[in-house]
Amino acid sequence: MYHPICPVDVRVINAVDGQRAVRDWLKGTHRLLVLASKSRCAELNLTPFFTALQGDGHAVQLYTAIAPNPTVDDVAALLARLKEEPFEPTAILAIGGGSCIDLGKACAALCGLPGQPTAASVREALADKAYVSDRPRPELIAMPTTAGTGSEVTRWATVWDPQEKRKLSIDHPDGYPSAAVIVPEWTVGMPALLTFSTGLDALAHAMEAFWAVNRNPLSQELAIAAVTKIRDALPAALADLGDRNARQEMALGSLMAGMAFSQTKTTACHSISYPLTMLHGIPHGFAAAITLSSVMRRNAEAVPEIARLEEVFYDAEGFDAWLEDTADGIASLSLSSFGVKEADLREICNLAFTPGHMDNNPVSFTQADVMEILHESL
Ligand SMILES: [Zn+2]
Repeated sequence: MYHPICPVDVRVINAVDGQRAVRDWLKGTHRLLVLASKSRCAELNLTPFFTALQGDGHAVQLYTAIAPNPTVDDVAALLARLKEEPFEPTAILAIGGGSCIDLGKACAALCGLPGQPTAASVREALADKAYVSDRPRPELIAMPTTAGTGSEVTRWATVWDPQEKRKLSIDHPDGYPSAAVIVPEWTVGMPALLTFSTGLDALAHAMEAFWAVNRNPLSQELAIAAVTKIRDALPAALADLGDRNARQEMALGSLMAGMAFSQTKTTACHSISYPLTMLHGIPHGFAAAITLSSVMRRNAEAVPEIARLEEVFYDAEGFDAWLEDTADGIASLSLSSFGVKEADLREICNLAFTPGHMDNNPVSFTQADVMEILHESL
């Protein structure tokens, strides 16, 4: 498997310089599609930024219907809107969390396809990898507003298919954003629950990159550095949502975790997370982190270096104690607290074997193993 080490032009920067960097990066004039939810536009006061982009000569089209966990319907709705206008973007600027950036990636991959976009045609295009072609795609610039997704430095996008109860993906070497502009101050004041769930997503990316079948020494060093930062910065950010230093550290931890798993892909925890999100609406980061402890324990037999991961949490009396202390008063990390019942576990288990993720786990799990892990997480 080839994975260049982050072919993305990455900046970690303040808001003023970040907006300037985007304007500098967009040389020439573009038909620029901006994806950002209404609430993000208001919270981050983005109107002057958009006005400046128009002043630079770009034709700017703002699309604000950003839903969590983009589905084939959400992608089709955006593509249909572009056809209707018509507006063929030459560049896309996604300002938001992982869902917004993934919608941008899906749009970049599919916006040149012929025909009227529908959920069925998007489903088919993803299944047939119709996005693999020589036609030029719009450039994608990602400005993440949470610290967790890593999507700004990976070539993959997740698109959900609720009808078929599955997660589809886009996976292509051209899927990387061209540029990622990370503004840690944009995450200052992010609510506790979102800080926690996105932070745990970053933690899962790092830990899974550390033990993945596709691990390598560089991804492991990036992963350990990310886990160490998140161990300290996530509890600090949760204790004081305005702590700028903790937010800066979380942004870096999330970025390093993203770079680590961009080379390795994720493993059993993410694989099991998809039906948890699809069937029970568990936020992605919680769904991924809920099985980390059970999976780590099993993987330690096959990957002796996991002792290094455990060591990171030594002063916190172990990973489980750290997670429990960090979650205290914010969320309960058990499946039952998200409404999952014992009778639901079989269906979750049946859908938990996501190709490319479960087979990237260093221990190969049977259905019985996954049922056991789900029971432990109940
Ligand atoms: Zn994730």
